[in-house]
Amino acid sequence: MKEISGIPASYGVAIGPALLYGREELVIDTHQVEDPDAEWQRFEQAREETGQQLDQAFLVTQAECGAEAAEIFNAQKLMLDDPELLAAVKNRVESERINVEAALLETAESFASQLEAIEDEYLSARAADIRDVTSRCLRNLLEVDDSPASELKVPSIIVAQDLTPSDTVLLDKKLVLGFCTAGGGATSHTAILARSLGIPAVVGAGEDVGEIRSGDQLVVDGDAGKVVVNPDPEELKEFKNRQESIRKIKVEAESLSHQAAITTDGHRVEVVANIGSVDGVQPALDAGAEGVGLLRSEFLYLERESLPSEEEQYQSYKTIADAFGQRPVILRTLDVGGDKEIPYIDLPVEMNPFLGVRAIRLCQERPELFKPQLRAALRAGYGNNLKLMFPMVASVDDVLKVRAVLEECKGELLEEKQQIAEEMEIGIMIEIPSAAVLADQLAEVVDFFSIGTNDLTQYTMAADRTNTQVAALASGFQPAVFRLIKTVIDAAHAQGKWVGLCGEMAGEMLAIPILLGLGLDEFSMNPPAIPFAKRLIRSISHEQAREVAEEALNLRSDQEIREFVQKMVPEVNRD
Ligand code: PEP
Ligand code: MG
Repeated sequence: MKEISGIPASYGVAIGPALLYGREELVIDTHQVEDPDAEWQRFEQAREETGQQLDQAFLVTQAECGAEAAEIFNAQKLMLDDPELLAAVKNRVESERINVEAALLETAESFASQLEAIEDEYLSARAADIRDVTSRCLRNLLEVDDSPASELKVPSIIVAQDLTPSDTVLLDKKLVLGFCTAGGGATSHTAILARSLGIPAVVGAGEDVGEIRSGDQLVVDGDAGKVVVNPDPEELKEFKNRQESIRKIKVEAESLSHQAAITTDGHRVEVVANIGSVDGVQPALDAGAEGVGLLRSEFLYLERESLPSEEEQYQSYKTIADAFGQRPVILRTLDVGGDKEIPYIDLPVEMNPFLGVRAIRLCQERPELFKPQLRAALRAGYGNNLKLMFPMVASVDDVLKVRAVLEECKGELLEEKQQIAEEMEIGIMIEIPSAAVLADQLAEVVDFFSIGTNDLTQYTMAADRTNTQVAALASGFQPAVFRLIKTVIDAAHAQGKWVGLCGEMAGEMLAIPILLGLGLDEFSMNPPAIPFAKRLIRSISHEQAREVAEEALNLRSDQEIREFVQKMVPEVNRD
């Protein structure tokens, strides 16, 4: 075995020795204890220690990757404080007089298996979190320190079956050259973390990963999604050359990132950032963002333990919008539901949460959630260029209904003599196929569109965006998705409205020439992709992009489209 194929999860080439991560299985025996109170005290101590470690993991992650990625550790802490879990463990220790390790392991395992039995990707991930936090607490109880972080002494490529979020985050990132995991998909924690840190990664590489030994020389090719084990000198030289040219291009792209994104024949588009918090502003500005195309407001809710007040929301929105001056900042209203849950907002239990009461559907049912956010946005938009965008619009009626609530809020604020942005631009996300089909009608009732290809793809292809089994179908490069994008852009332009795109696709080099050719006006992406996107746009002509788009739309598969762009536009390569 020399070459292993997996899912490309984070760009770049990493070369270095493999470090195998596999924690020792904890062996927990069950035995009788004499003093249940003393046993409980031991547990309380271990729980406190675990809480402190999770707080540390939260802070490290927040600083390195932002609040969104860090939230997992708050969620784990809540799990360990869950009154139901604690009562069940206590009851077993007291009534059966058994050691707390056994009581905790069995109780937590039964909670996790119940979640898993529901066969829902999101809940399975929560089951994994329960196991992760339980394992951490058990290690503290048994005073075992075999955390992977303690083994990482020299720069290495981390090889694992899968990595738990807490394992990943506590690694010394200066020593992590790349990641290779057997499990996981493009949205797994390792992938998200690797992308936000700019560390090359291949995930979902399967059983062959088991044959890699610690110390093997590895190459992780995060663009091609392959891992080469013990390459021969010639191959190694080639990869080293590629690594070097990627580095040079990165430096060159960064040096141009504050210039406008203008094609060689003078067509200008906007390149803006996707952010989720006030902390996200500076990295976006540094990367050369010309504004914010998607402020995922739900992340401001996720950072907390209770509902933010109107005033708190106003402060956050205003800080972000003011930081960009007269450049646009698009605030998306609360998009909870689907795979995004907020502990203090009661969501209905649904068979198909992605098809259920999500985003504006929930907000319309819950004016106590919706109205303070709309009021805060109207107030925060005074004197800057804040725009408002509604997610999960399926029909014209949806827009009319949310606009009516917005008007109600405006009326109230004016009555209260508050300063508001009366002329704020209102847009919608096009992420449900019905909205794409009705784009001509929708363009009449809004100022702009932003295409959400993450959801538009999953709903068009009927392929859950969080399920690795259907990852190929859930790719935005499906011809059907490109055709819908064209429909949307043409319909909006026919009525003089502009169109952005804020799904992951906007930052994918292979997609950019097609989107440019289809006439997309605004590209909104994770900040690390901005310098590369601008560099690419500045190196090709609009004319060429139009030709590529026209032909690409006649191709018949995801793979054909990717290969075609690769062939026609060599500038998409970063090396
Ligand atoms: C999308 O669906 O493409 C999008 C940008 O929104 P989110 O990923 O938050 O659902
Ligand atoms: Mg979406």
